[in-house]
Amino acid sequence: HPAPPQRTVRTTCAYCGVGCGVLATPKPDGSVAIAGDPDHPANFGRLCSKGSALGETLQLEGRRLHPTHHGVRTDWDTALDLVARRFSETIAEHGPDAVAFYVSGQLLTEDYYVANKLMKGFVGSANIDTNSRLCMASSVAGHRRAFGADTVPGTYEDLEQADLVVLVGSNLAWCHPVVYQRLAAAKAARPATKAVLIDPRRTMTADIADLHLPIESDGDVALFAGLLAFLKSSDAIDTDYVEAHTRGFGEALDAAGSLDIAAVAAATGLDAREVRSFYELFARTEKVVTVYSQGVNQSVRGTDKVNAIVNCHLATGRIGRPGMGPFSITGQPNAMGGREVGGMANMLAAHMAIEDETHRGIVQRFWNAPQIADRPGLKAVEMFRAVADGRIKTIWIMGTNPVVSMPEADFVAGALAACPFVVVSDVVERTDTLKYAAISLPAAAWGEKDGTVTNSERRISRQRAFLPLPGEARPDWWIVCEVARRMGAAGAFSYSGPAAIFDEHARLSAEANGGSRDFDIGGLAGLDADAYDAMAPTQWPRPAGAATGPANGDTRFFASGGFYHADGRARFVPVEVDAPAEKAGAKAAPGGLILNTGRVRDHWHTMTRTGLSPRLSAHIAEPYAELHPADAARLGLGEADLAVVVSPRGSAVVRVLVSGRQRPGSVFVPMHWSGQNASGGRIDALVGSATDPVSGQPGLKATRVDVRRF
Ligand code: SF4
Repeated sequence: HPAPPQRTVRTTCAYCGVGCGVLATPKPDGSVAIAGDPDHPANFGRLCSKGSALGETLQLEGRRLHPTHHGVRTDWDTALDLVARRFSETIAEHGPDAVAFYVSGQLLTEDYYVANKLMKGFVGSANIDTNSRLCMASSVAGHRRAFGADTVPGTYEDLEQADLVVLVGSNLAWCHPVVYQRLAAAKAARPATKAVLIDPRRTMTADIADLHLPIESDGDVALFAGLLAFLKSSDAIDTDYVEAHTRGFGEALDAAGSLDIAAVAAATGLDAREVRSFYELFARTEKVVTVYSQGVNQSVRGTDKVNAIVNCHLATGRIGRPGMGPFSITGQPNAMGGREVGGMANMLAAHMAIEDETHRGIVQRFWNAPQIADRPGLKAVEMFRAVADGRIKTIWIMGTNPVVSMPEADFVAGALAACPFVVVSDVVERTDTLKYAAISLPAAAWGEKDGTVTNSERRISRQRAFLPLPGEARPDWWIVCEVARRMGAAGAFSYSGPAAIFDEHARLSAEANGGSRDFDIGGLAGLDADAYDAMAPTQWPRPAGAATGPANGDTRFFASGGFYHADGRARFVPVEVDAPAEKAGAKAAPGGLILNTGRVRDHWHTMTRTGLSPRLSAHIAEPYAELHPADAARLGLGEADLAVVVSPRGSAVVRVLVSGRQRPGSVFVPMHWSGQNASGGRIDALVGSATDPVSGQPGLKATRVDVRRF
């Protein structure tokens, strides 16, 4: 980048769903100094290793700087004309469901908004899905079942105020490090605070845990159904709350059946005494927050897991009050913003329902759109199957790398190779997915683009540009609008910039909800470009006329009921404890192992950014398979050996790491490495694509594999 004038810009981290505020100061030598923003209410100046290394990832080497057509440089007009023409021709010949967008939680809310508007209102299909389907779709589905809307009840502050924090399928220390730091500081200040970790692995997060339950993969439904039965038998139900604010308690209790502690121990692979310790702690502690992440969501039982957890909070009335509540922590920087604009195949903008005719009418009228998608589109896994079998003939992938990150990644590669027309927008020159692009479009990167993101506690923060656009790179919103214009929708996509898009998004939220549903940021409508630029981090809801927060005056939902089902009550969801799919996923064949995939501390997704930082790459330099010593000995594998991990779908070569932190019978391999890395290790090629029947989220953490010496 040419050296810009030196001034400090407040922005938001490019990585995880914590959404930390960052101070970025470009220096005359072209470098950028990065510091935590002491005034941002998510992090109060803290940053983790990834955030603090952001300045090391801004170089232009390896950047995509020009549009290309089959790898040959072309100009923007030619590329955009061709994209618009191929989409229009496919729609004319095969109908709107023959095209699709596969987008990303890396997109800013404004990018997401226009992509969703183009597909649902102007193409007339709901075939827009996102890599957030791999991240938190089960939490969305669980929230909608329980609360009647996709509402995260609590805030980060609740973790600091709780007397017990239960962490389920969450390696908070590595995956949401600043929230972990906040929890650790709170625990140090109040040593009586307890933490329980429920995870097959003894991760670094166990360092803060008073109790670690090394549960079998996918045992969570049984554990929390058993907890519900235990709460009942130990007289810990808040019957007043249940009667006043919920429905379905009896059915949920019946589904939990006669699960006693011995039965739970058998179903989860846990020690019965540890199960009892956890249950008793939960039963006697009023202020409980249950934090859950990908170990819950990335499962073929993900939605039931979410509801099994929420059931226990509803039964005890521990929701929406300081230090209490179920809390889904999202993976990506803008997974929540994507949900707000309806950037998923089964949602409409502003948290409205695509199945609801009234909601569809509101959106269509507001957009003055010629049509509106009237049924859910294809979710991520289904979408690539439809590409493979020819139902989808034209696909545009924005800001994501599905040939590395999707389950059955080789199948996804084959589908894209056979697809008649693939468009990929990305910031980098090479990814495994870009190999299949007919048209590649250079997108603006973090630090070059302006917009908003929403973090896990519903806080909308600005990402601000502090570097000029390099080469011919352009923001995603601009690229989408230029294609829309060429498809004949110029009037609806002629925005002056992200401020105008955000304003429309805010006005739609008010129009849609009239203040009566959860997502309403009508109070943020009408900001001019300067006010938008200056916008401070803000939690939603922010209805017109309200100073801040929900009607009860603080930033938590459901302090005294007020759920979004028509009768205002929450729903208990009966969960089937012994569902066959759970057992199929959780048990390996004799001698085989269960593969669990996840993140390492210092890398992000497919490493296109963090791989640029030598400091981050020094933490863990290559992909590895973490095995329990007994399994390693049985397989004749020693520390640092090379091993091949094999499933019926593929194989990957990785380094062996022998560790007592690993549950016997299981193997952990990180998900970051790709075909672009000399070391290989593209593990999602091995993972099956079975999905949760409600959310469509694939189970990425319970694949049967064999491991042997390479
Ligand atoms: Fe960025 Fe997440 Fe680290 Fe905060 S915790 S600095 S948002 S990666």
